[in-house]
Amino acid sequence: MTGVPRLVRYGAVVCDVDGVLHVGGDPLPGAATWIETVRALGLALLLVTNASWERSVTLGRLSAAGIEVPAGLVVTSGEAVVDELVRMGTRRTAVMGAGSVTEALGGTGIRRVAPADLLAEPRDAALVLGVAADREEALRWLGPLVGAGVPVLSTNRDMVYAGASGPEMGTGMLIGELEEAVPGLAVRACGKPFAPMARVVRERLAGREPLLVVGDNPDVDVPFAQRLGADSLLVLTGAARDAGGSHPTLVVDDLERALEMMVDGS
Ligand SMILES: [Mg+2]
Repeated sequence: MTGVPRLVRYGAVVCDVDGVLHVGGDPLPGAATWIETVRALGLALLLVTNASWERSVTLGRLSAAGIEVPAGLVVTSGEAVVDELVRMGTRRTAVMGAGSVTEALGGTGIRRVAPADLLAEPRDAALVLGVAADREEALRWLGPLVGAGVPVLSTNRDMVYAGASGPEMGTGMLIGELEEAVPGLAVRACGKPFAPMARVVRERLAGREPLLVVGDNPDVDVPFAQRLGADSLLVLTGAARDAGGSHPTLVVDDLERALEMMVDGS
């Protein structure tokens, strides 16, 4: 490439959390300074995570890593799921293993019910799966629910995420297994890089383009940037050791290096 883009050329930064800012609450090099710099330069900032757990878990791990941000800057995959449920006209949903979804349902008027209630009244119903869904319980309900025409959504399709002791099995692994086991099941994933999360982010950052998407997963964060028409910065501190087949705008070992290249100019 002919030159490294300067951070100030962007209007907003869409930053992933796990594997970018921390792993399991342990800070990654340059992460706190990166966030401070983005905010000090006056760029808009969203911390967009595909994690299935509640916003408070993400905020707690950021805080453990020395990064304090207002809660409203964290966008969870639960918000993308609920945005999609609302557009679908859903009135009742059962949520398995996705605290971020349960949390985001508040105030929408969509009722959270047990899977048996969806089966009893499948109209305007949906099932949602997250990373902590129990495989056996999901298998027990999916056949009858799919047969009854109930749509199934998930927080994401990530195969791995950056956990405290290395890559951990993501929601995508479970979803893949379930789709293989249950005839007719086609799960609609809502987090990055899919359309519902893109909609949520576009709405939040309207007028703040151009955007820079920062992430550690070449299969998720880079295509998400492409969907948004944004540049992408891939950091090799989490899910991947290289860009794989993806084509990010810039690849760096960590955010410390990104600061040197995009802010300091070396
Ligand atoms: Mg990540």
